[in-house]
Amino acid sequence: MSKKKRVLICEFHEETDTFNPIVLTKKDFAAFRYAEGEEGLALCKSQPCATCGIVDTLEKAGYELIPTAFVFALAGGRVSDEVLAYVLDCITRGVAEAGRIDAVCALLHGATCTESDNDACGTVLKHLRKLLGEEIPITVSLDLHANVTEAMLMNADVMCGHQTYPHVDLYETACRTAKMCLRLMEGKSTYMAAVQIPVLTPPVGYSSLKEPFKSVIDSGKQMVEDKTLLDFTVFNTQPWMDIPEISSAVVAVAEDAETAKRCTDALAKKFFDNRDGYWPDLMSIDEVIDRAEDKGSAKPVILVDSADSPNGGAVGDSVAVAMRLQERGSKLRAAMFVKDPEVVAQAFAVGVGNSAQFTLGAKFTADVPGPLVAVGKVRSLHDGKVMREGPVNRGEAFFVGKAAVITFGNMDVLVCEAPVVPGDPQLFRHFGIEPILYDLVVVKANASFRAAYCKFSGEICYADTPGAGAANLKRFRWKHLPKGMYPFDLPEDYQLNKAAIYRS
Ligand SMILES: [Zn+2]
Repeated sequence: MSKKKRVLICEFHEETDTFNPIVLTKKDFAAFRYAEGEEGLALCKSQPCATCGIVDTLEKAGYELIPTAFVFALAGGRVSDEVLAYVLDCITRGVAEAGRIDAVCALLHGATCTESDNDACGTVLKHLRKLLGEEIPITVSLDLHANVTEAMLMNADVMCGHQTYPHVDLYETACRTAKMCLRLMEGKSTYMAAVQIPVLTPPVGYSSLKEPFKSVIDSGKQMVEDKTLLDFTVFNTQPWMDIPEISSAVVAVAEDAETAKRCTDALAKKFFDNRDGYWPDLMSIDEVIDRAEDKGSAKPVILVDSADSPNGGAVGDSVAVAMRLQERGSKLRAAMFVKDPEVVAQAFAVGVGNSAQFTLGAKFTADVPGPLVAVGKVRSLHDGKVMREGPVNRGEAFFVGKAAVITFGNMDVLVCEAPVVPGDPQLFRHFGIEPILYDLVVVKANASFRAAYCKFSGEICYADTPGAGAANLKRFRWKHLPKGMYPFDLPEDYQLNKAAIYRS
């Protein structure tokens, strides 16, 4: 057997919104990546992706890779149990065939629930630990929005998450993780401290480019720069998981345990003390419609419906804004998209140029108003293949399933089977809906739309809309959250726990 050090790698990525009732299956993952072993590794290398950061760093350092699961999707509802079982099986097979293994470097999202497991990432790490024993270092690359659970902390030696939001360091995070993996294999003293923090905030309310979250991240970066820390992450968990174990967390990695704990406590305090600053200013739907009706410029007003953003894990089936426009008898020229496979099928049956009564939207997400019942005219029908205009991934194709453009009064609605890439204006333009020609454009995205839309938009208004990704967390009927969570019922005199080393 080769003398090279051998590292088991695996990838399992999906961000779960438990308020989205649509379960993601094998087929949904297959559209991105659902493979194992050498075949999975080849797929991973065939395009730039975060996991390549692990692969490149370890290969460059001369280590041998043991590829196991490569299972990737973006965001959505719970994952089918079958998918997690496949990931665990790939790992079991990989371990059985590998012979000696010196370390693990995994890429997980960190906030993934299956149909029956609220901590799929904890389950993957437990599985690895059980197969490999206590001595083998396990390192894991995570999203900044990970839900760092007890099971994850008990089984991973080092965790590294993104230090940017919007995330522009996907590859770099994986490289940091791989470097920690190398340190551990070289036997260098490495301690990770962690503290869980009972805070939930909506991602649309903060950014690593904007205070106060920026200064929390900047203090961590300073500690790394002046060599106090080896690494750190502020995990501001994504809040749309109605489960009994959920929290934000801070982790810090240092050469000695005391420093790791001290810095974790300092960063956790800074993160916690600023919690009221991680919220967006939201306008009501009516306020945004008023703005569009009174506006002085010819540019479109953008109503940001982040609550229904498929990027954030929501469904994309809300017609809340369309309902308000209809109820108000508004004359605004408005554009939006809605997921509704039934209406797409009906539109194909009705045919281009013909009218019919449609029952549109609100078929998946609980507690959104609708459906919109109205007579609409079918303007065009499409196969749903679209090219991104960017700036992110310009020229890359994406698919929204079969699609129809239906006009209801002054509203042009793109109805499609599976909306994705909601921040790219081509989601409208490709279908003959030119955003600059409308008074009001409903954009169902969090932050991804800004780079493209800022060029031609008038006012950009974040609205307090309903949906599986609502920024207003008090809209949801929570059933399973632990007691004592901010912003719900955290006691006034709450004291943060002290940072702890879970593995040593
Ligand atoms: Zn994230």
